[in-house]
Amino acid sequence: AVPPPGSLFAQQIRVAYDGFTALDGIDLEVRPGWVTAVVGPNGAGKSTLFHCLAGTLRPSHGHILFGERDITRLAAHARTRLGIARTFQQLAVFPSLTVAENVQVGAEQGRIADPAAAERALRLFGLDGPVRALPAEGLPTGTLRRVELARALAGSPHVLLLDEPAAGLDTAEVTALARVLRALAADGTALLVVEHDLDLVADLADVVHVMTAGRVVTSGPAGHVLERGRG
Ligand code: ADP
Ligand code: MG
Repeated sequence: AVPPPGSLFAQQIRVAYDGFTALDGIDLEVRPGWVTAVVGPNGAGKSTLFHCLAGTLRPSHGHILFGERDITRLAAHARTRLGIARTFQQLAVFPSLTVAENVQVGAEQGRIADPAAAERALRLFGLDGPVRALPAEGLPTGTLRRVELARALAGSPHVLLLDEPAAGLDTAEVTALARVLRALAADGTALLVVEHDLDLVADLADVVHVMTAGRVVTSGPAGHVLERGRG
C-alpha cells in the first residue's frame, strides 16, 4: 500500500549515546488529520525521538520517511522546507525581533513563504493585537509559547512537531491551545505532541504512544492507554 502523502514515519529507530541505548527500535506514524502523542517518564527517550524526526539527530539505525521519501539523511532546515515544522522545549524566539517579525521568519523558513499565512498564524494564536509590535524579549512564557507555535505554523507545514507545548501555560492557556491544535488537525495537519500534561493528552490525542527506556511499550486511543497507565 502507498503511504498517505504528508505522513511522517519512524521505522526501527535506534540511537546510542556513547554505548548507552537511548532508543531501541522505535516504529511510529505521524498521520495527517491526527494528533499523535508520545508520553513517558523522564529519560524514556521522547526528546531523542523528537530530534530524529526533526532532523537534529541522526539515528544509528532505522529510517525516517516523509510519505514515500526517505529523509533520514536530510538536515533539519531542509525538513522544515519540506513542511515538517517544530517547536522547541526551550523556547527559541529571537528576543530583539518583534512578535510579528519572529512569525515572519518562520514563514520564510517554511514550505511556503506566504505573508498571509503568517498573518493567519498570528490571528490563530491571538497575537494580531498590539502585542505583534512588541519585542519578544520580556514577554510572558505563555505569550512566547504562542509566538513559537505561530512561527512554526507560519510556513504552512504539513507536519507540526511539538515538544511540551503546554509547559509553563496556565489552565486557560492549555484549554485554548488544545482548541487550536484540534482545529489544525481537523484541517489535515499531522501533529506530534511530546507532553507531560496527561490531561491535555487525554483531551487532544487520537493516538498515544507510551515510551519507557527507549521503547514504545503501549500504543492506542488516548482513553484506553491513559486509563491503563493510571491503573
Ligand atoms: P526524555 O525526553 O523522555 O526525558 P531523552 O530523550 O532526553 O528522554 O533522554 C533519553 C536518555 O538518553 C536519558 O537516559 C538521557 O540521560 C540520555 N541522553 C539524552 N541526551 C543525551 C546526550 N546528548 N548524551 C548522552 N546521553 C543522553
Ligand atoms: Mg524530553
